[in-house]
Amino acid sequence: MMLTYLYECEECGRFEEFQSIKDDALEKCPKCGREVKRIIGAPGILFKGSNFYVNQEKKADSKPIKTKENKKDEKAS
Ligand SMILES: [Zn+2]
Repeated sequence: MMLTYLYECEECGRFEEFQSIKDDALEKCPKCGREVKRIIGAPGILFKGSNFYVNQEKKADSKPIKTKENKKDEKAS
């Protein structure tokens, strides 16, 4: 069984590694060699059906900044 594990490297950020469920978790980043944390994929993870996918990355809403217009009615009287 092959799984896509999600790791996080301090240097490179998150990346996915496709490996066998029997394989040990990566300890080092394949790119830079730093220590990595495995975010998901711990043994015992539940699979319901075949539609297993992970979407942990939430894209922050980029709300347009509302600028208040200070309308100054300068009445030269
Ligand atoms: Zn790295």
